[in-house]
Amino acid sequence: MSTLTRVVPAGFDVERIREDFPVLKQSIHGKPLVYLDSAATAQKPNAVIDAIRRFHEVDCANIHRGVHELSQRSTAAYEETRAKAKKFLNARTKNELIFVRGATEGINLVASSWGRGNVKPGDEIVISALEHHSNIVPWQMLCEDKGAKLRVIPMNDRGELLLEEYEKLLGPRTRMVAVTHVSNALGTINPVGRIVEMAHRAGALTLIDGAQAAPHMKIDVQALDADFYTFSGHKVFGPTGIGILYGKTRLLNAMPPYQGGGDMIKTVTFEKTTYADLPYKFEAGTPNIAGGIGLGAALDYVNSIGLDTIAAYEHELLVYGTEALGEIPGLRIVGTAKEKAAVLSFVIDGIHPHDIGTVLDRQGIAVRTGHHCAQPVMDRFRVPATTRASLAFYNTFAEIDALTAGLQKVKEIFS
Ligand code: PMP
Repeated sequence: MSTLTRVVPAGFDVERIREDFPVLKQSIHGKPLVYLDSAATAQKPNAVIDAIRRFHEVDCANIHRGVHELSQRSTAAYEETRAKAKKFLNARTKNELIFVRGATEGINLVASSWGRGNVKPGDEIVISALEHHSNIVPWQMLCEDKGAKLRVIPMNDRGELLLEEYEKLLGPRTRMVAVTHVSNALGTINPVGRIVEMAHRAGALTLIDGAQAAPHMKIDVQALDADFYTFSGHKVFGPTGIGILYGKTRLLNAMPPYQGGGDMIKTVTFEKTTYADLPYKFEAGTPNIAGGIGLGAALDYVNSIGLDTIAAYEHELLVYGTEALGEIPGLRIVGTAKEKAAVLSFVIDGIHPHDIGTVLDRQGIAVRTGHHCAQPVMDRFRVPATTRASLAFYNTFAEIDALTAGLQKVKEIFS
């Protein structure tokens, strides 16, 4: 057992919390599962599993259109999540929260719907060197379509964005600044408040990709003054296929619908269709009702622990893990920002990440290996891939010890 310091916030009982996550109670290849891949998708507590089950067993009906009891119950439960998301992000009104499939769809919605009427040839969209592909490709597609230019905020060797370079990129042609709140590949927490303020000073709008922030820290879209903010349900301990896009009312009202279909209309004739008010204008078709209800249960669950407590505990895990991995000869952590979420991305001299991942898996340890949908980040650090251990509040110091022991084994096998 490691002699490194283990600090646990007062009142935080990780063993009690782990009881809420049935998936964690299993063995993989005869070893207890050590799940260190929460940045890819987080595990689900019983509260979420039960809410989805209850919907299908008791309330199942389509929403918004039915006068019968089941439809009313389903609608109320689904819309209740919108109210929870409003509180979770501290939006002004429920109408500023649009249900989407996830962060990817949230970004595509803005790039497509806002981009259609607001980007002209010669305009510029600013993203950062830290982005996930889902916050690169939609903007690239928009730029190609409109003859606009994509500009990229560079980063330093720790994986921190260079704000003085960002300042130079801003100008009268900048229409949108789209950056991630937390990097999935490196864990860097970006100073998004500052980034938004600088964009606004230049007259540009902002979109914050909160996919990796929502599970780890309190978010306040009003304090950030973000114009758009999006996150995925499945990374915040809810189900897949559901997420939230926040947008300021004024901006959402001025944007055309993203998709056409049922539920997003007021009236339809063959000559003309009028659109529904917010938020339904952006919600064509039968949505992921069960997913929406599951997401509500997930937000309640996270709130019951408290994001400040979660952030404090995960920070201790990160400090402990950084020290523990730092003691392994030949291992280099990629991404050493001062402000960092609980992500440990690393390479080991002479051993391919896929080999590391495979040997760890045989010991029951689930990590992710590859480019993490952030190929430009890998290029910047001149590595083809990394091994990434990403932590959540259900992880333990003992699991980090298991990772360290697993990596020693990897080294024995490949040295
Ligand atoms: N942005 C970041 C930073 C991410 O980590 C991810 C998921 N890995 C996404 C966006 C896309 O999320 P989703 O696949 O859930 O739409």
